Amino acid sequence: MAAMLTVSTSPEPVSGSIAPMPIPGHIDPVPVPRAPFARPDGRVDLIGLSKDQLRGALAEAGMEPRQAKLRAKQIWHWLYNRGATDFTQMTDIAKAQHPWLAERFAISRPDVVEAQVSTDGTRKWLLRSPDGQDYEMVFIPDADRGTLCVSSQVGCTLNCRFCHTGTMRLVRNLTAGEIVGQVMLARDSLGEWPSQPEGRMLTNIVMMGMGEPLYNFDNVRDALRLVMDGDGLALSKRRITLSTSGVVPMMARAGEEIGVNLAVSLHAVTKDVRDEIVPLNKKYGIEELLQACADYPGANNARRITFEYVMLRDKNDSDDDARELVRLIRQYRLPAKVNLIPFNPWPGAPYECSTPERIRAFSNIIFEAGYSAPVRTPRGRDIDAACGQLKTAAEKKSRAELDREAEEKQAALA
Ligand code: SAH
Ligand code: SF4
Repeated sequence: MAAMLTVSTSPEPVSGSIAPMPIPGHIDPVPVPRAPFARPDGRVDLIGLSKDQLRGALAEAGMEPRQAKLRAKQIWHWLYNRGATDFTQMTDIAKAQHPWLAERFAISRPDVVEAQVSTDGTRKWLLRSPDGQDYEMVFIPDADRGTLCVSSQVGCTLNCRFCHTGTMRLVRNLTAGEIVGQVMLARDSLGEWPSQPEGRMLTNIVMMGMGEPLYNFDNVRDALRLVMDGDGLALSKRRITLSTSGVVPMMARAGEEIGVNLAVSLHAVTKDVRDEIVPLNKKYGIEELLQACADYPGANNARRITFEYVMLRDKNDSDDDARELVRLIRQYRLPAKVNLIPFNPWPGAPYECSTPERIRAFSNIIFEAGYSAPVRTPRGRDIDAACGQLKTAAEKKSRAELDREAEEKQAALA
């Protein structure tokens, strides 16, 4: 919260005219910049650093520059290709140098607070950062692929009305290390080191966990570059999807600087409804958003943009809505496919899920117009791992505490 107060003020107070202080709101809140968290042991964490940054870190610690260049290359390979978590594993680095490195540098993984497995095989991890922030990641195995759903922020500032994550009060950006750390932890759990081109369980990544990735652009970009680097984790950009609720000004950069597949959380086709359920729409409207999709670098018929559409009963699920969706896709000539997501209810949610018949009818209209419109099967519902359910245990506890308080109050009144 305190970091929200990073409002630039003029150095000289202007007497008599104090400009109103901008207050970040629900529509376009300022992402919270934070000083990088310093480890209590003073060591620098290497996870999240590019090869160049790693070389810089070694040089800054006093390593001779030519050696730093060579060592950075070796260490980087150990970290991201082999999954090493200890310098003693790095057999091509002189043993005598291991203690020097270990004294100055750490190779971290996110702390696991809780790991759960659903009856359908979906796995969810509750993770904790060194400064005590909780975030989640989910692994969804399928017959022909395994998808890791990665978080970009703790919580989300955007407050979409159907989304549980959006109700979290505490928000902070995850660092590049915390983002790529999720992928590395999943690799640890699946035993998938060293990186191999074939036969992996973890084949796909979706930036669809907690948070709005385009509000944490630099860290998401840096993390995904590490994930895509062929010498390291080596996941192809074709197997990575970034989902945005529609941060229009960042979309072109996402295409140019990251180049992964784009998913857009559209969810509604009229201004009124989208303003209500995705408040960011008041800032960047549907037309602007679809134009940014049409301009998205790299989108073509082989690499379509996915429109996510959460099915809310009597809110956005009529035949007319489906027809309007088709009309919009055609108007902007979008290489598009539509993912229909049955709404996952959570306690206190102001909506219900559309009926299965309604979802089918909606899907048929889009399908008959020539666009694929599969209905996503909710996964991991028994462990709250499904879309939009990600909310940390700490938050849940505080909800439980609130409930208990309410009960106590009631008992006192009785
Ligand atoms: N912030 C980004 C990415 C994370 S949300 C975005 O909004 O695109 C990932 C997806 O889950 C989004 O399409 C989101 O709209 C959807 N979602 C959120 N809450 C949901 C819920 N309760 N039921 C179904 N889908 C939900
Ligand atoms: Fe944030 Fe996405 Fe949830 Fe909206 S749907 S509140 S943008 S995480």
